[in-house]
Amino acid sequence: MTKYRCKNCGYIYTDEDDYNFLTNCIMCEGPKKDISLWNAKEGFYDEEKKKKRVWVSDINPSIQRIDNLCIDCGMCQNICTNITNISYDKQLASNPICINCGQCVMHCPTKALVPKYDYKELLNYLNDTNYFVTISVAPAVRVSIGDLFGLPAGSFVEHKLVSALRALKFDAVFDLTFGADMTIMEEASELVERIKSKKNLPQFTSCCPAWVKYCEMFHDDLLDNLSTTKSPISIQGTLINTYYQELNNIPKDKIINVMVAPCVAKKMEVKRRELPGMDYVITVQELALMLQECEIDFNSLKDSDFDPLLGKGSGAGVIFGTSGGVMEAALRAAYYFITNKKAPKKFYNLESVRGISGIKEAEIEIGEYKFKVAAVEGMKNVEEILKHKKDYAFIEVMNCEGGCIGGGGQPLLPIPQVKANLESRKNSLYQNDAESSIRVAYENPDVINVYKYYLDHPLSEKAEKLLHTHYNSRAKAVKLRKEKKTD
Ligand code: SF4
Ligand code: SF4
Repeated sequence: MTKYRCKNCGYIYTDEDDYNFLTNCIMCEGPKKDISLWNAKEGFYDEEKKKKRVWVSDINPSIQRIDNLCIDCGMCQNICTNITNISYDKQLASNPICINCGQCVMHCPTKALVPKYDYKELLNYLNDTNYFVTISVAPAVRVSIGDLFGLPAGSFVEHKLVSALRALKFDAVFDLTFGADMTIMEEASELVERIKSKKNLPQFTSCCPAWVKYCEMFHDDLLDNLSTTKSPISIQGTLINTYYQELNNIPKDKIINVMVAPCVAKKMEVKRRELPGMDYVITVQELALMLQECEIDFNSLKDSDFDPLLGKGSGAGVIFGTSGGVMEAALRAAYYFITNKKAPKKFYNLESVRGISGIKEAEIEIGEYKFKVAAVEGMKNVEEILKHKKDYAFIEVMNCEGGCIGGGGQPLLPIPQVKANLESRKNSLYQNDAESSIRVAYENPDVINVYKYYLDHPLSEKAEKLLHTHYNSRAKAVKLRKEKKTD
């Protein structure tokens, strides 16, 4: 079969008809003149060219490469360096540095890079009635999975998604926005304590596992500044295994917790000892594959609601899925914790920290406290903001463009459509928040009940034990790898 290849992005056209009708490359929109006949042997097995790839170790829990699909175009290494700031000059190919973000997967033109798939193993538990299998849905999934079923970009399909998961025979379907609200209760309380005591400022968010790993590897002097509050998925898993398990009398060793995520770094996070609770993370793409294999027609499903106890989230929990959302959610709660009053209107539309751009900032005034906050996307931008970190009290960090809406476990999109699609997903989340009757974590009735009957209050002894964690320096491991390379 005749093949053509775009010299700009490496995308391969396998069908002559496709080529004849092209005006531009469908992947990068480069001119047709740059798409030329391609001999499949070109570009393979050339050691020099292989140096252009990201290196993927066999034990990487997030991503894998199908070697014979790789054309050594170098797109993955470019994107890795641009977003994650990881340099390939001084690395060992046998033991590469990777923060598991999956952005290389999103940009690989031949689909040689793919997420590690865990859903096959999960199907075994779903088919075994001895196990009680829960699934929690991350905020950003409800505005992206529709892409895989031909729905318009940003379609808000929360209720159909719940029906789809029930059709797959999950025993309980929860909303991870509950876990996000719990994270906010603890993280905003932490922030208020730090602002009052002026200790360990700025506080950095810790819900993006790629950022946490980057911080442990390259900025271990900042570990005391990372919020100790566990990520929403670890809090959700912990509360299912304790509070929910006790109330429902389910044998502890028979609960399997799954999260459907927009992120492949979460596959790494659930393997961390410091962040227990969830057993499996599947990506949006894996969920779509499961539905296809089980012959479930997503679009014809009726709407249904999440299961009770851990099933309600506030609008603040929903906007966790977009960059700036964690910041806005935490500030709404912090305002209440400091003043005992509901935050004024502007805290429900913090325009200056919204939107898809590298660094966003705002000046905040709560009672007697005035401080600066920032929301940052991508590790290169983190390096910029760290030059002035003393100017800020609170910094939200997400690795991916737009936050979780642009995560490495989201449906693949042609590159020219990415920006517009992320805008639609972001707007859809903010619209859902604006339409929610509850827009702050502390008014979520499920959250109120957990504190009333189980945890007492944020930062209580029990909350500290169950919902907080610690981080570890990985700087030594990075240094060792570099030293080995220069030997
Ligand atoms: S893995 Fe994909 S993006 Fe990376 S070099 Fe190979 S084809 Fe290009
Ligand atoms: S997962 Fe992220 S950090 Fe790892 S190689 Fe890919 S882009 Fe780089």
